[in-house]
Amino acid sequence: MQAMVLGRPGERLRLAELPMPEPKSGQVLVKVRACAVCRTDLHVVDGDLAEPKLPIVPGHEIVGEVVRAGPGVDRFEAGARVGIPWLGYTCGSCRFCASGQENLCDRARFTGYQIDGGYAEHTVADARYCFAIRGDYGDAEAAPLLCAGLIGYRSLGMAGAAERLGIYGFGAAAHIVAQVARHQGRRVYAFTRCGDLAAQDFARELGAVWAGASEERPPEELDAALVFAPVGALIPAALQAVRKGGVVVAGGIHMSDIPSFPYRILWGERVVRSVANLTRRDAEAFLALAPEVPVRTETELFPLAEANEALDRLRTGRLRGAAVLIP
Ligand SMILES: [Zn+2]
Ligand SMILES: [Zn+2]
Repeated sequence: MQAMVLGRPGERLRLAELPMPEPKSGQVLVKVRACAVCRTDLHVVDGDLAEPKLPIVPGHEIVGEVVRAGPGVDRFEAGARVGIPWLGYTCGSCRFCASGQENLCDRARFTGYQIDGGYAEHTVADARYCFAIRGDYGDAEAAPLLCAGLIGYRSLGMAGAAERLGIYGFGAAAHIVAQVARHQGRRVYAFTRCGDLAAQDFARELGAVWAGASEERPPEELDAALVFAPVGALIPAALQAVRKGGVVVAGGIHMSDIPSFPYRILWGERVVRSVANLTRRDAEAFLALAPEVPVRTETELFPLAEANEALDRLRTGRLRGAAVLIP
């Protein structure tokens, strides 16, 4: 089968012919129909995340069809449409797993980072971490739900009941979260790179009540802010935009250093927190909610062999919605 493979961080992916993977006990072999490109893939490829399995096939927003189940799998049969997310394995016994926080598992392993992922024609996955995808989404349309959607949704949950919600960085996660937030009756304020009028228009089309540059102050104080752009300077910027008692949630896995800031902008019981990974409960909840909203995703499609181009476009912010690879 063909796959796009990272040999070493900092290098470009190369198109390779790999042996067809075999599903072991508990695994399913999946024919990949679509795999969305996540910012985390960029962090893996660029070497921002420590110790990936190498070589690695990136990609953790996979929608595909079960070809064959290995021994012991009763969740999915051949022909079932499944989604494969970032969380690929947890130990089930550490203190985090035991307390409903499997996203923080000490021995977790992640798709497209420690486990070969979806930039390929086929992949294998532990069936316990795969999810059924409802039929009314196209394959490419569903793919961004698997991480931009799931982790965006978990981030939104950390904002509590915030009515006035800021979103910093209006890419794949934000364009999904904005729709969910609006559905929940919140008011969305979108912050983009200075001068990115296309992203600001996109945010307004998705129901944002205001869109502007990250350096700007919104017209009202925010109750909470979600930061999806990997830019540490946005943390103090967001802190200055939220009210007393408000929360700033960092939704990405990697961010440039946060510059020092005066204590007074944190004072007033403002909170800064991160969101890490996802639990299977997040996935079940979000994948059930998405068709109710209904969340519609905007995608730009690329052939598998053009994964490097898709990554470049994401790196430089030249995408509307999410890039999706089609094997
Ligand atoms: Zn664990
Ligand atoms: Zn991701």
